Order: sequence, then C-alpha cells, then structure tokens
Amino acid sequence: MSKDSPRRAVVPVLVPMPAERPYSYAVPEGVEAPPGAIVRVPLGPREVAGIVWDGPGEAIEPKRLRAISQVFDCPPIPDDMRRFIDWVGHYTLTPPGLVARMALRAPAAFDPEPLIEALQATGAKPERMTAARSRVLELCAGGFPWTRSGLAHAAGVTPSVIDGLYGQGMFEKVMLPPPPVVAAPDPDHGPPDLTVDQAEAAEALACKVGAGGFSATLLDGVTGSGKTEVYFEAVAETVRQGKQALVLIPEIALTQAFLERFENRFGARPAEWHSDLPPRMREKVWRQAAEGRVRVVAGARSALFLPYKELGLIVVDEEHDPAYKQEDRVVYNARDMAVVRANMGGFPVILASATPSVESRVNADTGRYQRLALSARYANATLPELRAVDMRRSPPARGAFLSPVTVEAVARTLERGEQSLLFLNRRGYAPLTLCRVCGHRFQCPQCSTWLVEHRFRGQLACHHCGHSQPRPDACPECGTLDHLVACGPGVERIAEEAVSHFPDARIVVLSSDILGGTRRLRLELEAIARGEADIVIGTQLVAKGHNFPNMTLVAVVDADLGLANGDPRAAERTFQLLNQVTGRAGRSGGRSLGLIQTFQPEHPVMRALVSGDAGEFYAREIAERERGLLPPFGRLASLIVSAESKADAETHARALRRAAPPTDELSVLGPAEAPLALVAGRHRFRLLVQGSRRADIQAYLRQMIAGGPKPRGSVRVSVDVDPQSFL
Ligand code: ADP
Ligand code: ZN
Repeated sequence: MSKDSPRRAVVPVLVPMPAERPYSYAVPEGVEAPPGAIVRVPLGPREVAGIVWDGPGEAIEPKRLRAISQVFDCPPIPDDMRRFIDWVGHYTLTPPGLVARMALRAPAAFDPEPLIEALQATGAKPERMTAARSRVLELCAGGFPWTRSGLAHAAGVTPSVIDGLYGQGMFEKVMLPPPPVVAAPDPDHGPPDLTVDQAEAAEALACKVGAGGFSATLLDGVTGSGKTEVYFEAVAETVRQGKQALVLIPEIALTQAFLERFENRFGARPAEWHSDLPPRMREKVWRQAAEGRVRVVAGARSALFLPYKELGLIVVDEEHDPAYKQEDRVVYNARDMAVVRANMGGFPVILASATPSVESRVNADTGRYQRLALSARYANATLPELRAVDMRRSPPARGAFLSPVTVEAVARTLERGEQSLLFLNRRGYAPLTLCRVCGHRFQCPQCSTWLVEHRFRGQLACHHCGHSQPRPDACPECGTLDHLVACGPGVERIAEEAVSHFPDARIVVLSSDILGGTRRLRLELEAIARGEADIVIGTQLVAKGHNFPNMTLVAVVDADLGLANGDPRAAERTFQLLNQVTGRAGRSGGRSLGLIQTFQPEHPVMRALVSGDAGEFYAREIAERERGLLPPFGRLASLIVSAESKADAETHARALRRAAPPTDELSVLGPAEAPLALVAGRHRFRLLVQGSRRADIQAYLRQMIAGGPKPRGSVRVSVDVDPQSFL
C-alpha cells in the first residue's frame, strides 16, 4: 500500500457466526455504512451478510483490513434492535453474532423486492370492439393498473386479448411496487361488543398504548373469557398510532382460527411468521416488516427477531407456554425476551394467560407488572365441571387405561351427539416394550431411554434422537417368539381401547406423528371443529388455542404423568397444561365435563384444578420457590457438559466445578449425571448454578468457563440461563 493512500473509515460489522465481537471492516470511499446497515463482507474464503455495529471499529493491522463489498439497499436494523441483540447475547451467554443470525434469517430479502410490470389504460379506443375487449377496458376505465395475467383473469379472457389491445396502444406499461403480503389492518373494521369487564380491560390496555413508553401487563383471565378480544383492542390502538404490533402465539402454524378472528376484527389477516412458512413468503414478511409495510405480525418466538421499523406493542399469548423456550443454539425464553425488547423499545408488552407462569404471577403481585383480570367466560359459556376420577377406586379393566367412569361419560356424550377428547401427552402406542420371558427391555442404542412402540408404523422409536427399528417378533435377548408386551399407554393404544368400547364412533388420533405434517394436522383440527369426529384422542397439540364448539367432555387419561420427573416446575406445568386441556370443553354454552384420571386426587395440582381455585395452589408454589431461592426469587442456570465418552464428560464437568470462583451469593451443585444420561451417543453431566437475585450470574458463568479447561475433542458445554428443562 502506498504511503499516500487515503485513510479509510473502519466500522465494526457483526457477522452471523459464533463471534464474540464484531469484526472490523474498511468502508470504501464514497460509500455510506451507518450503524444498522446490512452489508456484505468477506470472511475467510467466502462472503457473508452482517450488520454494521455501533462504536468505532477495533483497530487491526492495515494489512489484514478488508473492505465491505456491498451495502444492501435495505432499511437498517434499528438502534433498539441492535441493543436487544447485544442484550440477548449477554444474558444467554451466546456470542452476539449467533443472535444476529436470527435477525438475518432471510438473505434474499436484503435486496429490494423487484417491481412488477403492470398495464394502465391510455384511454384510447380500439379499432374494433368485441365483448371480451369491452370487458377488459371497462375494468381499466378508472386508470387502475393491472398485471397482465390479473387483468385477463378478472375479465375472463385469454392473455392474448390483452396483448392484442396492448399492441394497439390501449395500454402503457408501468412499474408497481410488489403487493403487500397482507392488506393493511383497519382498526375500526369490526369493533367488538365487549362486556363491561372486557371493555374496562381493553380501555386500560389502549391507554397504555396511547400513553406510550414501556409497561408490562399481565392479562389474566380464565379460558374463554375473551382475552383475545381484549388484546385486539390494544393492537387496534397501536395501529391507529401508526406503530407495528407483534402477537406471539405458540403453535401459530396450527391456529388458523386465530387468523380468521383477526380478519373479522381488522378486515385483513396479520402477516404470519413461523418455521413452516415457505421461503419466498419469509423473505417478503421480513422485508415488509423492515419497511413498515406489514403492520401486524402473528408469529412464533422467532418473530421477536424481525427487524420491525417501528414496533409499538408485543402481545405474548399463552405466556406460560413452554414452547416459548428455545433449547438449541441460542437458548432463550421468548416471553422474557419480549419484555426486554419492549423495555428497550419503550413500548407496552401484554402477557396473556389463564394460568400465568409463577414468574409472571409474582411480577404482578409485586407490582412490577400490572394485572388485569377477566374472571368469567364470555356469554353463556360456562367452565366445565371438573371431577377427579380416583383410579384406585374406579380402576380400569385389566390391560386397559380408561376408568369405567370415563367410558360411561364418553357413552353419554356420544348419545347426545357431542364430542369427547381423551387427552394423553404420549405419542405412539406404548412407552416401553419388554419380553415377558426374560425381562429384556428395548432401549435406544444411543440414548438412555426406552424405545416407544409405534404400532401403526410397526416401529420402535426413540423420541430423543430419532432412532427407529422394526418391532421384532422375537426377543433379541432370549429368542422367544411372540412374548413381547407393550407396557403403558400412548395415544394409539387409547384409540384401540376407545374403538373396542365404541366401534361405531368416528375416532381421530392427533399427535405430531400424523402423516402429512402441519398441513394435514391443520385440516384435521378444522374438521374436528366442524364436528366431523366423535372422539378425539390427542397429545398437547390439541390443547392449544383451538375452539371446538361441540366438545363437551374432556378426559385426562393420566393426570399424574408430568408430576413424576425431578423438575421444580412439574406441578406448575401440569396445572397449566391440564387447565388448558380441560378448557377445550364447553366453549359454546351448555354443560360440559372435565374428568381427571389420577392416582393422587389429593395432590395440590388436582385439588386446584377441581376446585377451580388456583389461588391456594399458586401461593404454595410461590412460597416453595421463595424458600428454594428459585426464579423469580433467585438466579438459576444450568451447564450441560457432554462428550462421546462418559469419562471425558465427567472430567470436564469436574474441572468446571473447580473453576467456579468462591462467592457467598451463588452456589454450584453437581456435577451429576443428567437424568437423560445419554442422548444420541453423547454422555451428559449437569451442573446447576443457583443463588441470590442480586448476583451477576452471567459474569460468574463467564468466569467459570474461562477458568476451566478449553473443551477438547468431543466435549461440549452448553449454558442454559433460567432453564425450563431439567432432563
Ligand atoms: P380466551 O382468549 O380468554 O380463551 P377468547 O378471546 O378466545 O378467550 O374468547 C372465547 C370465545 O368467546 C371466542 O369464541 C370469542 O369470539 C368469544 N367472545 C369473547 N368475548 C366476546 C365478545 N365481547 N363478543 C363476541 N364474542 C366474544
Ligand atoms: Zn435415542
């Protein structure tokens, strides 16, 4: 480089890699690359898209300094979004580059959408008029531009008719911006007729939107109380203010009914964002959210990382839902991060649930969040009458899983021409297969789990690593033929039992194993809502947000299932899930019944469900968390050390433990072999870091990891701050 070459500006660029810091790049002369700009930069042998970050670039040797190769013609990633990316990286101990990667998930969207060619009538008259021609020209009379194929379709003519007219100078070509993915929502399209309670809550929310600034509100209302109707009013106010709104919904891909309700209220659908979206659509939504053309997004957790131009509200529906926790790569809870995002953006966030998480409940109790309560179901819809079925007193027949009480209730429901739901959160036919002669149990060769029988497919499958093998006829251990038994129930087995009782009923089994994926599942759910099934047997997929007007009986086959593991949130989870499941019944008036099959009817979870009084249950859970210094009263993080050999994993975990700096505020538990000790051939050890809310747990974890040995060979360390899973 010659001495008098011009000094070039250097900027930091965050690249979508596990980079702890932005890298420095030169800005070519005459090029503008302000913070937030999306740029293409060379990285090693390739080029990647990154974001120009804040502050001056780190000084590096001029020889190694490479230049930005392109600044995309794209709205910059806004300031609050950049701070959010840094914050999430810091909080979850993830390199910020990996967080940025989530915001850059639509590479083709960095270039503007191409304009589309359209035809506009010039007003000239053709020499010869035909019926077809006059239909075409009539449509164009107002000067409104049409695409060639759109016009042909609307006029019911072949495109050659259009071409003929064009040839005679009846049209001129104009270039139009691509159409929006969804029409603009109209906040005054279909205003609801709210009840007094609903109107009060809606008013309070609209006021928060109107006032601007950060606020967090817990919208706490029983299932069917109209929480959606109420938060729609906050969305409407946001749209009126000229801001964008985001509604987070677990399983959005399955809840098409939500989109219809939104359309009834706003005259247009929200833009959807989830992993099932076709790539072209993802790109459009990304781009149009960045340009501010999309005003409302309904999405899964990752919608939090879209580059909204002017976000003004986030709603987290079913805020307690475990689906908000992402467990791979960037381990974060979208519910919590939504609150952070709103705080940074200075706008309101609404958390809605019939069974709020203990964390949110405490935040509402202490006044950190405002609470708005809706205590009654809308209109004549009454909550189902809930009853515990004591399985010790009304046991099922041998080899069966439905109590006579449940079978009888299903029979009555069938007689009335209404629907029943049998809920069991277990896929497949049976969770364990063993040999009756030698006791051999079928275990996954790569995981410490039993193989689940899927009788329909004739397979034994592992739900952790995906391993699957045909179900043999003979025991691989002792060779005896035809003596393998299935132990315990899955949904397929409950279906078999239901068929034996009700051979003429229309029975549907729904789980994520359904062939045909999300699309098929959606169709099935819609069919059920139309009444095209008598008995539905399903996993938690059927519990989420669906409205089955004719469903008047919900029976939980094994209410104790979720309570057995060593998870401190087991009781809370079970309560939330079962409340949501039984809430599927009786949503359109009339009597309905929820049956809870349990061996422990006196358990606090069952008592809270049956009595409908959650207060006492929450009080106990909260007291227990407080005593144990668990979130939200304390800090908690887990470290999973895994490796291909057990010794490597254990040695590394012990070394990390030794590297933990001494402090009074935090303590380290473990390492202990994780409950799932082996997954996909990797041995797992777990450390828990726990302690006072005042402690800086992130700094502590960083010290621990920095002070420990570098992971070598197959060793991996993954950090989970505020873990939800303890397996
Ligand atoms: P939640 O979200 O609290 O479970 P929803 O908002 O889904 O409750 O409301 C339950 C049902 O009641 C829905 O079918 C909804 O359309 C209806 N509903 C609630 N409030 C009203 C209202 N004010 N006017 C008309 N329908 C309502
Ligand atoms: Zn496995």
